[in-house]
Amino acid sequence: MSIPDFAIEARGLVKTYPANRMVPAKTALKGIDLAVPRGSMFGLLGPNGAGKSTFINILAGLVNKTSGQVKLWGMDIDEQPRAARAAIGVVPQEIVTDVFFTPRESLEVQAGFYGVKKADRKTDEILASLGLADKADAYVRQLSGGMKRRLMVAKAMVHQPPVLILDEPTAGVDVELRRQLWERVKELNARGVTIVLTTHYLEEAQALCDTIAIVNRGEVVVCEPTRDLLRRIDTRSVVITPQAPLDGVPELAGFEGKLRPNGNLAITYRSEAASVEAVLAAVRAAGVQIKDLSTEEPDLEDVFLSLTYGDANAASPIAY
Ligand code: ADP
Repeated sequence: MSIPDFAIEARGLVKTYPANRMVPAKTALKGIDLAVPRGSMFGLLGPNGAGKSTFINILAGLVNKTSGQVKLWGMDIDEQPRAARAAIGVVPQEIVTDVFFTPRESLEVQAGFYGVKKADRKTDEILASLGLADKADAYVRQLSGGMKRRLMVAKAMVHQPPVLILDEPTAGVDVELRRQLWERVKELNARGVTIVLTTHYLEEAQALCDTIAIVNRGEVVVCEPTRDLLRRIDTRSVVITPQAPLDGVPELAGFEGKLRPNGNLAITYRSEAASVEAVLAAVRAAGVQIKDLSTEEPDLEDVFLSLTYGDANAASPIAY
């Protein structure tokens, strides 16, 4: 099998859930184009109802797409459904455990489902990689919530897929447990596993992911390296009330100003590259007398709103 540049590629992916007696037809994905670079730690963000689960369920084979193309590890899910699906491991949102099995038995059974031959199984190695070696023979009901979640990841890895997909651990999962889980996931990524995770915690995605896609109302709003997204967030503004009304935007060395309808001058800058001090120096050098000033820092919601401009219903999409 040749090694693809993209672990996952979706082109023009559409999903319309048909109407039934309870609900009208719903187009959950409106022609999604997404490419997940091989080896990346990829965050899929978006508010509830954006279409994240629909996307993941199509990858996992739990939902049939309406149209479009999906390749998993270079294999088309229509042309080579079994081989394509074997390239991914999916960790579902809900914890589903077999209470009568130990973690070792649980992994063995799962490996059997995937047709992994006994000699090829890496049960102990996988348990160890998720910090469960000393719990291999414990009963699942004796495991903590965090351990159960790591066992879910272990089960998704029995066939050693090159791509691991984590649908967001349900809301309310303890911050410390999430942190422990992410440490393990980062280790898998460092060993070459491509990771895709959905979350609505933008800050968490920023800390973990090298690439982030934001989905809203079934469309990809942005998909770019996290550092580029952070640069958008890094934008700050200094808002100046001038002593005397300005008759135009003054020429500012190194900065761009905008005149607001109330006569204030707003100057945006990147906090990484400049300071309020430098902005003020440029304003003074342009001969503007400052009566008052304030600074504005966009929060993550502003960033989201700026990316979903004109979509009034996208308010308060992201928890942080
Ligand atoms: P997310 O995971 O981002 O919260 P979903 O993929 O679950 O979003 O949902 C996207 C949209 O599709 C929502 O409007 C949701 O109500 C709708 N939807 C999801 N599953 C079904 C289904 N089985 N039948 C009808 N509509 C659905």
